[in-house]
Amino acid sequence: MKRHSIKTKITLWLTGLTVVLCLLLVVFLLSISRGVVVQTTRERLTQVMREQVELVRCREGQPVLAEGFQFYRHGVSLLIYSKYESLLAGQLPVAFTAEEAFENGNVHQVTAGDVEYMVLDLWVAEGWQQGLWVRGLLEIPESSRTTRTMLVMAAVALPLFVLLAALGSDRIIRGALRPLDRINETADSIVDAKDLHRRIGGPGGRDEFSRLADNFDRLLERMERAFEAEKQFAADASHELRTPLTVIKSASEYALQFEETPEERRETMEMIHRQAGTMQALIEQLLRMTRLEQGTEGMEFGLVDLTALLEEVALGYEEDRLMLRLQPEITVLGNGPLLARLTGNLLDNAMKYGPEDAPVTLALERRDGEVLLAVADAGPGIPPEEQEKIWQRFYQMDPARSEARSGAGLGLAMVRQIAELHGGYMTLKSTLGAGSTFVLHLPEGREK
Ligand code: ADP
Repeated sequence: MKRHSIKTKITLWLTGLTVVLCLLLVVFLLSISRGVVVQTTRERLTQVMREQVELVRCREGQPVLAEGFQFYRHGVSLLIYSKYESLLAGQLPVAFTAEEAFENGNVHQVTAGDVEYMVLDLWVAEGWQQGLWVRGLLEIPESSRTTRTMLVMAAVALPLFVLLAALGSDRIIRGALRPLDRINETADSIVDAKDLHRRIGGPGGRDEFSRLADNFDRLLERMERAFEAEKQFAADASHELRTPLTVIKSASEYALQFEETPEERRETMEMIHRQAGTMQALIEQLLRMTRLEQGTEGMEFGLVDLTALLEEVALGYEEDRLMLRLQPEITVLGNGPLLARLTGNLLDNAMKYGPEDAPVTLALERRDGEVLLAVADAGPGIPPEEQEKIWQRFYQMDPARSEARSGAGLGLAMVRQIAELHGGYMTLKSTLGAGSTFVLHLPEGREK
């Protein structure tokens, strides 16, 4: 079956509805007008008969008509019949062929051939025995003239109404669905030209479709940013991998080309081994981040005793340098290994970037309905303009320094990702030359 557009369907439906309504209206008007005609005829007949019968007397079975009596008055034909129903006076209309029984005072309708009559019989008595019948006949005007007028009017007005309904609804629907057309066009052109820059734009009304168009634009905006970020990520990842790969390649080429002493060879092998290690660490980190993003990494959430977890993480660091300030028995809803990784990344940075003997503090407390996990160092600090950028993947403030300390600028990106997965967020307070404090804010978990 052919599928019509919504526009066509609504227009067809509204137009059809208008046609049905107009037809119903015509039928309704016709029936009302017929009723009015019948009622007027009945009233006229009754009135004329009541007047005229006053002028008829019966004397010895014969009619005596007073002055002013008319056999034909206001369209009513008056007939006088004997008691035995034989016509005594008056002219029967030619068309009236019906043999109607007499009924005193009862107005009723009679169809004679094509003509319809309203009939009223009145009995004029003479004593107990004698009397006459006065019969009034009034033709019910054929309603065909009214009907015809109405049908002509309907024939002119109906197509006009239908046309107006069709044009009006088409115009309104077209206007209302315009943003939808633009959404379709934009989506098509994005698919065809792979062009994520395009936007629907528009006047921005308050109706549903305009809001949909706005939301679609916002969605495109976010998609474009995400897409750009992915492209950047891929470029950065290949760049990061290329550096150790170049070192490995040139070192191995050198070793192949030139005779090396055993010491030199050993040095070359160690260099290759180191660079391969860097690459492996980077790839593992990238894989972990991707798995986190895709939700494929073991992401079981449960109640985690954070105090105990941090004490365990702290075991991996120099006891003299790391100071613990942990409130006991702090529980959160989360994933233990991920929270351990987050803490590890922050501690690694604090240890890496601070002076070798400077202390690092790991603190855990409950405050204002939040659980705060803070890692504070007395390192070089981070300038305000860098404080937003350091969370980006592969961003390194001072790559030369970071490289010397191993890392690819992924640590903090992962920290932020883990914080968000736990419904929390990260803050940073840092003063140049004095040190930095990274704080994880988590919603408080249920008490044990
Ligand atoms: P990486 O440490 O691998 O370079 P990160 O994402 O962990 O990557 O950190 C990004 C950058 O933020 C680092 O290159 C470093 O310049 C800066 N940074 C992170 N932690 C600290 C810190 N505690 N003190 C000073 N600078 C820091």
